[in-house]
Order: sequence, then C-alpha cells, then structure tokens
Amino acid sequence: MPRRPVVKKEYTLGERVYLVEITKGLGLTWKHFVFNIKASFRKGPHTVPTCWQYPEDRREIAPIFRGAHMLMLNDKGQELCVGCGMCARACPAKCITVKRGKRAEGEEDKYAGKTYCASFEIDMLRCIFCGNCENACPKGALVLGPGYELAEYDMESCIYNKDKLLANYHEAKAEGKLKPPKKPVPVEAPPAPPKKAAAKKAAGEKGKAAPKKEAKQAKKDEKGKKPAK
Ligand code: SF4
Ligand code: SF4
Repeated sequence: MPRRPVVKKEYTLGERVYLVEITKGLGLTWKHFVFNIKASFRKGPHTVPTCWQYPEDRREIAPIFRGAHMLMLNDKGQELCVGCGMCARACPAKCITVKRGKRAEGEEDKYAGKTYCASFEIDMLRCIFCGNCENACPKGALVLGPGYELAEYDMESCIYNKDKLLANYHEAKAEGKLKPPKKPVPVEAPPAPPKKAAAKKAAGEKGKAAPKKEAKQAKKDEKGKKPAK
C-alpha cells in the first residue's frame, strides 16, 4: 500500500493566536442561549424547542395509537359487548377474561345485545398492545384507546376490570379523543372466468364425453350381434 506523504499544515496568524476561534465558539454558545431564552417565552404547547415540558405539554398521539383499552358504548349509551369471548380467544398473551351474562327484562336500555359481559378483565401487565382483541371483536366493543399513562403503584391496579374499561371510554369521549369507527374492509369476489374460455371448456368437455358414449353403444351392439352357439 503506497504511503501518503505527510503535508505540514501552515496555520494562519489568527489560528495561531486562538482568540478568533475562541470568540467564534463563544458566539455560537450565546446564539443558542439567546434562542432558548426567547423560545421559552413563546406561546404554544411546547415552549422550548428541544424538549417537551411533560406533563404540562403533551404530544398529540397518532389516530392509530394503541393505548389503554376501552369498552365502547353506542349512541344510545348501551354497552356493545355481548360477552362472546372472541377477543379472549384472539389474545396471544391470554390476558383477557370474559364472563357472559344474559340480559334480563328491563335492561334493554343498558345492553345492546341479548347477552352482555357480566365481568371483563384485562391483565395489563401481560398485554403487548398488539390490537388483536380489537380486530377480533365482531361488535367493535373493545378498542385500544389514546391513554398511555399506565403506571400504577400496585399490581392489582394493573388488572383492568369492566368499570375501569368503561371509565377509559368516558374519559376519552370527554376529551374528544375517541377513534372514528373503522371502515368495513371491502371483500372482493374472485374474478369470473372469461366467457369465451368457459364456452370452449364446456365444448371440450362435451366433445370428450361423446366418444365414451359411442364406445359403450358399440360394445352393446357387438354383444347383440354375436351368433348363438
Ligand atoms: S392488545 Fe393484544 S395482548 Fe393486549 S389484550 Fe389485546 S390481544 Fe391481548
Ligand atoms: S369485547 Fe367484543 S369480542 Fe370481546 S367479548 Fe365483547 S363482543 Fe366479544
């Protein structure tokens, strides 16, 4: 490998004195200092550009964010969950427990279906926020909401019961953070075979079937023609 020649750099007088470079560095420091001071007086959700003043300032979350679960109500205030347990079956972490109850007479304004979830528990310590439960629910009754402050002081509080899940819904609704309802995914029918090809295929099948019939008839005729011994 060829050796590169050593080139001795000639420093200018300013570089040799260092004062110019030191002044340049200090100027940059002051520039950032003044910028941050000015920014801290600026109106807005985040006063300093480099960091968010949590919990006073909160970032807006994405509409597809998957946070704390909510049990949804419909426009009439009825619970949508019918206690079918599909969400529990779809959960890879096995952290949902649902018990179904039958709607009694006079409870029509409380529950939308003939059955409802008598108890509903999600172990948030095991949940991986995959969203499978939300996707599996046929009624759109379980939704992963916008809540992300999930820290608790004890483990029992990390098991969300029905009351907590309904409270999450009411909180998100009051803050106007409910997700818009999902659009139904269009199911496309498989493409039909072209008419000409189908007609040719049918004709071909007929053509194949005909010789078989003819052969059978010929055999029968031959048997009939055999001379009696
Ligand atoms: S988000 Fe995933 S892991 Fe959590 S409860 Fe739903 S299915 Fe289970
Ligand atoms: S949340 Fe949905 S999937 Fe789960 S039990 Fe209720 S209706 Fe069934």
